[in-house]
Amino acid sequence: AKSEGKSTYHFFEPALDQQARERRQTELDMRSALRDGDFELHYQPLYSIAEDRFTGFEALLRWNHPERGRISPLDFIPLAEETGLILPIGEWVIREACRQAAEWPEDVSVAVNISPKQFTYAGLTNTILQALSSTGLAASRLELEITESIFIADVEKTLSTLHNLRSLGVRIALDDFGTGYSSLSYLRSFPFDKVKIDRSFVEDLGQGGNSHAVVRAITTLADALGMDTLAEGVEIDEQLEVLKQEGCRNIQGYLFSKPMAASDVAELFENSASV
Ligand code: C2E
Ligand code: CA
Ligand code: CA
Ligand code: CA
Repeated sequence: AKSEGKSTYHFFEPALDQQARERRQTELDMRSALRDGDFELHYQPLYSIAEDRFTGFEALLRWNHPERGRISPLDFIPLAEETGLILPIGEWVIREACRQAAEWPEDVSVAVNISPKQFTYAGLTNTILQALSSTGLAASRLELEITESIFIADVEKTLSTLHNLRSLGVRIALDDFGTGYSSLSYLRSFPFDKVKIDRSFVEDLGQGGNSHAVVRAITTLADALGMDTLAEGVEIDEQLEVLKQEGCRNIQGYLFSKPMAASDVAELFENSASV
């Protein structure tokens, strides 16, 4: 019986072992990536319907792994968050985004994703202040995207962090709205500048589901609270039409552009300046 137990144990162990090894390796690789400059930011345009132009770009992290090639943020951000590596990585993202955005026209802003661990990190305000002052980017041109997961934390603390950040002059967007712990009442209680309607609602617009009603409810409430609205993941004209009709103010998605390299953003501005 003893040997049987032992063999069962051995049967399961290698798989667990291997998973742990892979995670450990990815963690080491993330450290090397930071050191070797293997991270890169791509930028996806944020289109304003009223202004009929790109008023900003969302910075999206890309990892060019020397052996594994391009790795999606969905495949390493969770581990970075767990291990705490998201703090140095996120700091790099903030600095890099500010540095590149400082080269853009002054009426164009940059949006940066802030993970839950970064949001609760006491040094975040300082990181942002330093990035702004060293790059010369105006605080009003930086937007922070925060997800609904911040609502599970202590309400008082979340509120005070939000107020601290806003007092720097940066704007705050609530990302992926409608997917997580959200309730419409959070919008009333927290000082967001913008609400980003999650792609899942946009996806089935025009297909007769109830997303249309959800989008209407969100834009109506955001309007009443003086918050800006943006719909994520807009891929086809039909979605754009419904969103316009419902008064959504900004659009992001493949319909306009996929995320692009920083050099392509610069080129976009050069070309439009020469017209
Ligand atoms: P997100 O913040 O919701 O970013 C939007 C994601 O949707 C991006 O995926 C973008 O490429 C994708 N997308 C944009 N338009 C469309 C569309 O029309 N159709 C479809 N199907 N997808 C579209 P990406 O770049 O793979 O990023 C995935 C997630 O990784 C982001 O979701 C965000 O949660 C996280 N992430 C990316 N960069 C960072 C970062 O610098 N820091 C942190 N903490 N998270 C990041
Ligand atoms: Ca985002
Ligand atoms: Ca989002
Ligand atoms: Ca999303």
